[in-house]
Parts: sequence; C-alpha cells; structure tokens
Amino acid sequence: MSIPDLLKAKTVLSLEVFPPKRDGDVEALYRVFDAVAPLKPDFISVTYGAGGGNVGPHFDITRRLLSLGITPLPHFTCVGLDRDAVRRQLDRLAEAGVRNLLALRGDPPKGAVGFEPPADGFAHASDLIAFIRARYPFRIGGAFYPEKHPESPDAGADLRALKLKVEAGAEFLISQMFFDNNVYTSFVRKAREAGIAVPLIPGIYPVVSARFFDRDFSVGLPPEFRGGFRGTDPAADREFGWDYAQRQCLDLLRSGAPGLHLFVMNRSDTALRLWPALAARIAAPSA
Ligand SMILES: Cc1cc2nc3c(=O)[nH]c(=O)nc-3n(C[C@H](O)[C@H](O)[C@H](O)COP(=O)(O)OP(=O)(O)OC[C@H]3O[C@@H](n4cnc5c(N)ncnc54)[C@H](O)[C@@H]3O)c2cc1C
Repeated sequence: MSIPDLLKAKTVLSLEVFPPKRDGDVEALYRVFDAVAPLKPDFISVTYGAGGGNVGPHFDITRRLLSLGITPLPHFTCVGLDRDAVRRQLDRLAEAGVRNLLALRGDPPKGAVGFEPPADGFAHASDLIAFIRARYPFRIGGAFYPEKHPESPDAGADLRALKLKVEAGAEFLISQMFFDNNVYTSFVRKAREAGIAVPLIPGIYPVVSARFFDRDFSVGLPPEFRGGFRGTDPAADREFGWDYAQRQCLDLLRSGAPGLHLFVMNRSDTALRLWPALAARIAAPSA
C-alpha cells in the first residue's frame, strides 16, 4: 500500500536508517532489518547523502527492504544534480519497484555560503516535487521543521514555503526532530490554519548518549531533557533517552499524531525497546 493510503487507514509506526559510511557495515544494517522485520514497521526510510555520495548503497539498501517485504521510503535530495541526473536516479528507483519517495532539497556542501542549485537543477524541494509529480507515479513526502528551517527568515516564511511543497504534490510530511511536544502541536495548529491539510508525522530522535549534545541541530533542548544526561554512566543515559522518547511518543499519539517516525540511527535495540508500548497504544488507543 502507498504511504498516503496507509496514513488514511491507520496510525503509522516507521523507522529511519542511513547507509553506513564503510561498505562492510552494510551487512550490520541488514542484521538490523532482520531484527526489526518481526515488528512489521509500516515503512523504513533510507537517508540519501547530499550530492549523491552514497547512491550505490542507498539503492542496494532500498532494494533489500523491498526483498524483505518492508515498504522502503528512500530519501532523495537534489543537491548538485541537474534534471537529467535526477531523472536517471528516479528511473532506477521506479524500475526497482519503489512506490514512495521523500523528496528533499538537501543541505549546501560544507563551507558553502547558501544553497546554489546547479544549472538546470532545483532551488527548492517544492520544485523537485513538482518535477517528480509530473513524471513519476511515486507518492511523495517532504520534510518540515516545527522550530523553523535554519535558513528561513521567520516561521511565517517557512510555513508559506511548506504550503508550496504541498501544493506541488507532497502528500505527507515528516518533521525534523524536536524534544518538546508543545512545539509540534503548536506547529500543527498553525499549519492547519494556513491550509496545510496533509498528515504531519512527527520525527522522533531517541537520544542514547550525551555525545549527541556535541553537535548543534538547531532545535530546542528542554532543561529536563538535557539535564537527564550525565555523561558519566552510558547505560543510565541510554535508558533515560529511551524513556524520554517513549514518553514523548505516547503523548504525541494521545494528542492525535498520524504516526511516529523513529530516527533509530541504525540501532535495532532502540526500535525493540520502544516498539511494544507504541504498538500497544496504536492497537488500543483508549487503553
Ligand atoms: C525528515 C527529514 C529527512 C531528511 N533527510 C535527509 C537526507 O536523507 N539527506 C540529506 O542530505 N538531508 C536530509 N534532510 C535535511 C534537509 O535536506 C535539509 O534540512 C535541507 O536544508 C532542506 O531540505 P528541504 O527539503 O526541507 O528544503 P526546502 O523545502 O527547499 O526548504 C529549504 C529552505 O528554503 C525555503 N524555501 C523552500 N521553498 C521556498 C520557496 N519556494 N521560496 C523561498 N524559500 C523557500 C524554506 O523555508 C527553507 O528555509 C532531512 C530533513 C528532514 C526533516
């Protein structure tokens, strides 16, 4: 079933993985698929390296999911690709049997000042989505940023850009991570007021180590979340992160989220730890 049709039929529970940087490690990812397959995720999304640096593994991993009977949601970014290059890659995905795609602009290469589309390329995800929509039968999703995309001058401009993405053909949207559910619920309210009616799936990042905070993801870190990680006891930090993510997810389901997309960072233990409570809540929402 396509992801938009699934979203009409049920609350979805899905995972995101990334192609490992080293070739040998792809086998480790396939072992993750074996471990999570019994959970029957509604789909597994596969990130795409900006500039197409991991096209080969990205395609192989997508095909592996198809062969396991798991719906793949390949991400696709248009950084550095002109229309012919986009077409060649999308033809290959369509021929392999892919039916759903997460279409993104992507980030500028490290060190670049701002995003520069190549000649005959795409400046915005909405342009890429319109291009795909006109030529392929893919069901298309896009990204959204409850705390605003870092390049946007303000939240209103970002919301207007998001509406363009939906008008171009995005039928569902998956969020950037956030750690305060009020951020998501308030964004959903504003999006509905702005006329964005498609499902807005929260993307949840179960943080398993204090090392997460070494990077800046431009998202808010509530003190009770940040303060729960001590950095001195990895097992306690992992348990705190899983517990926080589980509470976040259950609260989102209670408030009517159309699904949950878990950024599990290729860790089957994270998926296996969180799944039972979330699946039970979805199966019996009033329990
Ligand atoms: C769920 C999710 C998955 C992701 N997966 C990947 C991945 O696999 N690989 C990867 O490299 N990156 C990934 N990213 C990161 C993403 O590529 C970056 O955040 C990128 O900077 C923006 O991509 P976008 O598709 O949201 O772009 P856009 O929707 O084009 O937005 C980018 C900026 O341009 C503005 N904008 C958009 N349209 C217009 C317009 N018409 N006029 C004026 N301004 C406009 C927006 O407000 C925003 O500030 C992901 C992000 C999310 C949330």
